Amino acid sequence: MHQLNSLEEALKHFFGHDSFRPGQQRIVEQALQNRDLLIIMPTGGGKSLCFQLPALLKAGLTVVVSPLIALMQDQVDALQDNGIGATFLNSSLNWDAVKSRETAILNGKIKLLYVSPERLLAEKFTPFLERVRSQIGISAFAIDEAHCVSEWGHDFRPEYRQMRQLRQRYPDIPLLALTATATKRVQQDIIQQLTLRQPEIHLASFNRPNLYYEVQAKQKPSYNQLFKLIKSYPEGSGIVYCLSRRTVDEVAFKLQKEGICALPYHAGMSDTDRATNQTRFIRDDAQVMVATIAFGMGINKPDVRFVVHYDLPRNLESYYQESGRAGRDGELAHCTLFYSAADIPRIDYFIEQKPDPQEQRLARQQLRQVIDYAEGSDCRRTIMLRYFGERLQGNCGKCDNCCYPKPVEDWTIEAQKFLSCVARCRERFGIIHTIDVLRGSRKKKIEQYGHHLLSTYGIGKDKSSDAWKMLARSLLHQGLVDETTDGYRVLKLNKLSWEILRKQRSVEIAVTQTPASQAIADVNPRNAEAEILFEKLRKLRKQIADAQSVPPYVVFADSSLKLMAQVQPQTIDAFAQISGVGTHKLTQYGERFVSEIRAFCQEQKLPAPLPSTSQMTTLQLYQQGLSVAEIAAKRSFSSSTIIAHLSELIEMKQPIDLSRLVSPEKQKPIMKVIQTVGAEPLRNLREQLGESFSYEEIRLVRSWWRREQI
Ligand code: ADP
Ligand code: ZN
Repeated sequence: MHQLNSLEEALKHFFGHDSFRPGQQRIVEQALQNRDLLIIMPTGGGKSLCFQLPALLKAGLTVVVSPLIALMQDQVDALQDNGIGATFLNSSLNWDAVKSRETAILNGKIKLLYVSPERLLAEKFTPFLERVRSQIGISAFAIDEAHCVSEWGHDFRPEYRQMRQLRQRYPDIPLLALTATATKRVQQDIIQQLTLRQPEIHLASFNRPNLYYEVQAKQKPSYNQLFKLIKSYPEGSGIVYCLSRRTVDEVAFKLQKEGICALPYHAGMSDTDRATNQTRFIRDDAQVMVATIAFGMGINKPDVRFVVHYDLPRNLESYYQESGRAGRDGELAHCTLFYSAADIPRIDYFIEQKPDPQEQRLARQQLRQVIDYAEGSDCRRTIMLRYFGERLQGNCGKCDNCCYPKPVEDWTIEAQKFLSCVARCRERFGIIHTIDVLRGSRKKKIEQYGHHLLSTYGIGKDKSSDAWKMLARSLLHQGLVDETTDGYRVLKLNKLSWEILRKQRSVEIAVTQTPASQAIADVNPRNAEAEILFEKLRKLRKQIADAQSVPPYVVFADSSLKLMAQVQPQTIDAFAQISGVGTHKLTQYGERFVSEIRAFCQEQKLPAPLPSTSQMTTLQLYQQGLSVAEIAAKRSFSSSTIIAHLSELIEMKQPIDLSRLVSPEKQKPIMKVIQTVGAEPLRNLREQLGESFSYEEIRLVRSWWRREQI
C-alpha cells in the first residue's frame, strides 16, 4: 500500500469519499487514540465509517457487534467491494465456511469481523478470540445499534446485556458504541451497561438537511393520490408505510395493476416471501415497498428516494425514524405524510384498548404531537427537531410550510362565535355538537337538549362544517381552548378562551389546506442530457451488481452516478476524481464506466476533451523523440502512467504516431481481436492474444481503435 499522508487521503483511498461528514474526523482521530466513544448520529449520518476507517489504520482486528444478520451481510458486501478485508461469522454459515473464515482472520487477512452478540460471548468462541488477541491483536470492539442494551430504548435485546462482560474480559481494548437513538436516558444506560471509560460523547445533529418534508391532506380516494404522487417522483426506490396488513396488500396490488413494480411486506407473510421481497427491493428489481412498520429495521439501502406514510404514524420519534430511511446517501429525498383528521378516531380507539391508563395518557400525548406536526403551519423541520430538544433558526427552505407558507387569516369573530357556543352548551359537549348548534342542525340531539333555543343556534351557517372544524383544531393546537382527555373529548374554556370572548385577544389561523404535492423537479434541476446518461449508468451498475449478486448501491452510490452523469469523465484519471471512486473501485469498474460515458459522449457528438497539462507535457516530450522509458525517467513517473497518457492522447486525436509505439505487425492482430471479442476488458484481450503481446501494446492499439470509432 502506498503511503497515506492524511486521514483525508485514507478516506479517499479506501472509501472514495472526498471529505468527512460532520463529526467523523474527530471521531476517527479519537478512535485512533484508543479512547472509548459513544457515537450518536441519525440514520445516514455515516456511523459505520467511524469504526471502519480506524480499523483499517490500526494493527489487528476490529470486532463489530451487530444484531441483525442481514445488516452484517450488507456491510461486509460493501466493504469487500471496496477491496477491504471484512467478513462475518453467524449462524447462517456451515462449519467449513466458519473454519475458513477463522483461518483468514488468523492469517491477518481480515481487518473487520462482524459477529452477533450471542456468538461473541459464547463459551466456545472464547478460545478463538483469545488466539486472535495473542496472535494478531484486537484493535477495538465496535458495538452497533448500541441502544439495544437499554430497556428504555425501543429495541431492547437481552443478549446485549451480556456485553458488559467484554470490558471485564478485555479491559484494555477500546469500546465504541454507536446508535441513532436520541433520548438522554438511553444514552446514559449505554454508558453504564457497557461500562464505557470516560467516553467521549459525540452527539450529531438530528437535522437531515437533504430530506424534504411535506404533509398532504389525505383525499378520497387516497389511493389515486398516492399513485399520482409516486408518478410525480423521478425514478428511484420508495417505501409506502400503511397501518394495516390489509391496506398493504390492497395498495401493493393496485400499484402493480397500474404498472408500478410494488411489493408488499408485513408480518402476516411467510419468512421466505418477506425475505424475497426485501432482496428484490434492495437489488432494485422492485421500485416500491408497500409495508407495515415491520419493514425497515436493519435495512441499509442508502438510495431510498421517498417514504410515504399512507396512515398516521404512532408518534413523532417513529415518524422521524421511518421517514429517515429515505436519503441515507445524503441525496435529496422526499418524506410525505398523508393526513386526515378522520383517521384520528381510529387511532384513539386503539389507544383506548390499552389497559394501563398511564400508557393511554402517554399515547394520547404522542398522538397530539403527531397531529401538531401534521396540522402545524410552522416549519416541519423545526417542529421535528424541537421534539429532540434541538433548536433550528428560521426557515429551512426544504419543507412544504417553508416553501409554500399557508396564508394566515384573522378569525377572531368566528372564534368568538365558536367559544361562546361552547360556553352556552355549558362546556359539556365536543366539537361536532358545537358545530351542529352553530350551523343550525336539525338533529334530534339538539332539540333534546334544547340547544335550538340558544342565541348561538344557526349563527354559523355561513361557514361549512369543515371550516369550523379547521378553526376548532387550530384553537386546540394554539391552546386557546382545551379538550378533556377522558375519552369523551369535551371542550373546556380556559383563561385564553375567556380573553378572546372578552375581546382582549385576537385569533389568527392558517387557512388553506396543505397544497397537493409540490413540483419536485425544481428542487434539483438536472439537464436532460445528464439524466439520460444517469439512466445508462444506472443500467450498467445494475448489470455489474447482478453479476456479482450484490445490491447496486454497493457498486456505486447514486450520488457518484449523478456526478459521473454531470461531469462526464472520459479518462480514467478524470474518473478517479469522482467522489465515491476509491482505488479499488477504480480498478474494478473504472474502465467499464469510462467507456460507457465515452460512448455516450460520442453519441452526443460532444467535442473530444482537451488534454490536461500533465498529458501535454508528455506529448511535448514524445514529439521531441523521447521513448516511453525516457519520458518516464525525465518526469519521474512510472512508464505505465506515461502509457496511460499516450493512450488518452491518442483517443483525444492528438498527433501521435502509433507505429513508433507498437510495431505494425502487432497492431493488426490486436485490432482483429478487438473487433471479434470487444474492447473490454483489457485482461480478456490479453488472454486472447497471449504473452507475446504486452498490456501496454494492447492498450495503445485499443485507443487507436477507439479513436477511429468516433
Ligand atoms: P448510518 O450507519 O449512520 O446510518 P452509514 O454508515 O450507513 O450511516 O452511511 C450512510 C451513507 O453515507 C453510506 O452510503 C455511506 O457510504 C455514506 N457516507 C458515509 N460517510 C461519508 C462521507 N464522508 N462522504 C460521503 N458519503 C459518506
Ligand atoms: Zn421548513
